[in-house]
Formats: sequence, C-alpha cells, structure tokens
Amino acid sequence: MGIKKTVSVLGLGRMGSALATALVEEGFEVTVWNRTDKPAPVGTTKAATPEEAFRSDVVVTCLSTYDVQKPLLTRDIKILVNLTSGTPEEARATARWAEDNGVEYVDGVIMAVPQQIGTAQARILFSGSENHHVLRAFGEPVFVGEDAGLAALYDLALLGVMWSAFGGYLQALALVGSAGVTPRQFTPLITDWLAVVTTLLPEMGEEVQSGSYETDVSALDINVSGLRMLTDAGVEQGLDTTLPQALHDLFERAQRNGHGAHSIASVIEEIRK
Ligand code: NAP
Repeated sequence: MGIKKTVSVLGLGRMGSALATALVEEGFEVTVWNRTDKPAPVGTTKAATPEEAFRSDVVVTCLSTYDVQKPLLTRDIKILVNLTSGTPEEARATARWAEDNGVEYVDGVIMAVPQQIGTAQARILFSGSENHHVLRAFGEPVFVGEDAGLAALYDLALLGVMWSAFGGYLQALALVGSAGVTPRQFTPLITDWLAVVTTLLPEMGEEVQSGSYETDVSALDINVSGLRMLTDAGVEQGLDTTLPQALHDLFERAQRNGHGAHSIASVIEEIRK
C-alpha cells in the first residue's frame, strides 16, 4: 500500500474519535460510523450504515467489545484493522472469519490513552497481517507475530502488570493513609521504589527462562512471612486485604510445594498449573 487510502472508522468513542482525527491529520480520506448520533471529528464524513463505511479501502474498528462488533462485520470489508480489545481466542476467531470471507485481517492493540494517539508514545502492537500502513498514523506500530491472537495476549499480559501495580499502589495508599499519611506525601517514595523493582525483573525473567531458582538475594520463605505481615497490618488498620491475602496464598502454595528456599520467580510453577 504505497499511496494514500480511504479509511473508515467504526466507533466514535473516546478512542475511535482520536483514531479518526489522527487519520485525518495524516491526510487520509476518513469516513466514520457510530451506533448513536455523535459529532463526526473535524474533516471526516459520516456514514449512515456500517455497509456504507465498508466501501473504504481499509476499515478500522474500535468498539467496546467483540460481542458488539461481530454482528456488524460483512464480507464487503477489504482490509479489517481491528483495534477493539478482546481475548486471543476472540481475535483468532475473527481472523478465521476474515480468511473464510476473503478479508485481510490486522489485529491491533493500543498501549496508550486517546490523548497520546498520533504521538510516538502510542505503541500499537499488532499481529496477523503485517500490514501497518494505517497503524503508523496512530503511533509506533510493533508487529508481534502472524498468530492473530498474539497482540491480544501481549495486551492482556501488559495490562495485568499495570492493574497489579495500580492495585498495589492503592493498597499502599490505604495502609499509610490509615495513619494519616497523604497520597501526595507517599507517592514519590512509590515511584522511586518501582524504579528499583523494575531493575530486578530481567534477572527474574532469566530464572523463569532457565527454570533455575537458586538465590542468594531473597528466598520465598522470607517473602511469604512478609506477605503475612502485610495482610495482618491491613487487618489491624481496618482495611480490605483481598489483594495481599491472594498473593500470600499463592506464594505460600509454592512454599508448601518445595520452593521455600528458592527465589520468588519459582511462584511461576504454581501459576502455570
Ligand atoms: P467508549 O468511549 O466507551 O466507546 C465505545 C464505543 O463502542 C462507542 O463507539 C459505542 O457506540 C460503541 N458501542 C458500544 N456498544 C455498541 C453496540 N451494541 N453496537 C455498536 N456500537 C457499540 O470506549 P473507548 O475508550 O473508545 O474504547 C474502545 C475500544 O478501545 C475498547 O475495546 C477499549 O478496550 C480500547 N482501548 C481504549 C483505550 C482508552 O484509553 N480509552 C485504550 C486502549 C484500548 P455508542 O457511542 O453508540 O455507545
């Protein structure tokens, strides 16, 4: 695809609107469709039906879920760039549907918020077809493999890290907050601490990769008792302890299964079960 194409965007939510605007800024001729009446981003043309939008060379979908997207798709689409979030199996099923119907299929996930679309900060992971022509308008496209489910798998894995970090952050704010410490006072300590934690990940990754969990840094035993203390402290301060309790229980299972003297990386053996 060397020349500018016509592109349609299905979905004018927060993200879909940002995508349509970025495409206009890149010089594409952009058609938009949304279920309910919403203002079309500047420079775009509204389609009355999805079918009308499918006349474009490329169709970008950005709807809330695959369930709402699936009934809208037809074989009139030429190239489908799916940016609706879902599971790897949902992506693979859509790829199979596309193949059966002669539609080229790109499955992408957006590792950014709408305000970052069109900047280098917006990383778009994609799989299936290696066609990244349209994705370049949104940010930095990174192809992760031909298996159409891979982008969704990467997406959920990365979001899982984010949600765990957010959960840990909020638990920490509640814990120190129970003694009157404010988020404004405590947050700088957390950001510094997360930078230290990040430096530990490559070695942990190596341990997981090799399956060798010998450690002279910190054994699982000591971390299980630490998680017990964190949970007890939460109870003492009158907080919900769902998150530290869940981590404690998982780590303790690994300890019971013979990993007490091993590194924290050995917990992966429990997760894989
Ligand atoms: P949103 O603002 O809630 O917009 C949802 C869109 O889905 C709207 O266009 C909505 O149409 C449409 N929709 C909902 N139900 C529908 C139905 N039954 N039939 C047809 N259309 C329907 O959500 P968003 O933030 O734009 O997110 C869209 C996708 O981008 C999601 O898969 C999300 O995970 C992904 N994403 C979002 C972000 C983000 O920061 N926002 C970041 C990365 C990925 P109506 O306007 O008619 O309701």
